[in-house]
Amino acid sequence: MAQAVLGSSSLSLLHSKLSSTRTSYSASTIFGSQLKSGEIEKTHLRLLVSFRSNPALRMKALRESPELTQELTNNKPKSIEETQDGSDLFNEMKHRFLNFKKRKFLENSEHFQNLAKGQAPKFMVISCADSRVCPSNILGFQPGEAFVVRNVANLVPTYESGPSETNAALEFAVTSVEVENILVIGHSCCGGIRALMSMQDEVNTSSFISSWVLVGKNARLSTMAAASNLSLDQQCRHCEKESINRSLLNLLTYPWIQERVTKGVLSIHGGYYNFVDCTFEKWTLDYHQEGSSREENGKYKLKNREFWC
Ligand SMILES: [Zn+2]
Repeated sequence: MAQAVLGSSSLSLLHSKLSSTRTSYSASTIFGSQLKSGEIEKTHLRLLVSFRSNPALRMKALRESPELTQELTNNKPKSIEETQDGSDLFNEMKHRFLNFKKRKFLENSEHFQNLAKGQAPKFMVISCADSRVCPSNILGFQPGEAFVVRNVANLVPTYESGPSETNAALEFAVTSVEVENILVIGHSCCGGIRALMSMQDEVNTSSFISSWVLVGKNARLSTMAAASNLSLDQQCRHCEKESINRSLLNLLTYPWIQERVTKGVLSIHGGYYNFVDCTFEKWTLDYHQEGSSREENGKYKLKNREFWC
């Protein structure tokens, strides 16, 4: 079934697990204001100044990053200077790729050869497309460890909503790769959630963003019911978490997910990354055999809540 969804060429990579055993408003509103390259450079410089003024931090950085060692030794920060055709950006990208090849791929060639034969990630991750929310980076997922789909506001449509790239990825991860965990990660200052909470009654149907974030309309309704007296900012913080839990419930509308959750071979979790103070909350939907995770008042039950700070 997943084969038909994914097509032939990409499928040959993605479904290699099948033939192997398990061995191995506006865009600127949504994604926040853009930092100009000069500002990025200034941030880089500020970081380097703090490294220099903090001997312990500097020693830790020196141990962990040979490149940074070289930068500090040269007393000159490396920066990406954008040219008209962007060629320097790609030079930097090439450098990073070749560095990955040298330090990770070639040094762990046996692991990567096994990975080329098939994938068996334990996690399916659904997170926002926001460039500041990079699950592999913040949670340390290595190649082969997480099957990831990213969309605006990390929303999961219901089964009844019909096909989308998100549920196509879900179908493959659950029915073919057989992941054991689905983790939906929301985040602070989410522009997609702000678009949802700022929406007027008349939806702008010409906007793909408006149409998409309406997937989270139940989260908006429950946020308005619980927090209508609060400021828009506070409502957005509330809805950022509420929408994650609504997505967890929406996951249960997929029969092949509910079946596996009932059998206990699949768990579904929420996560909330606050990139303002760099904290992470994680929790698990408490699923009951009778098929309901909702209490009588319509609320859901959660368990195993942790706060990482
Ligand atoms: Zn977001």
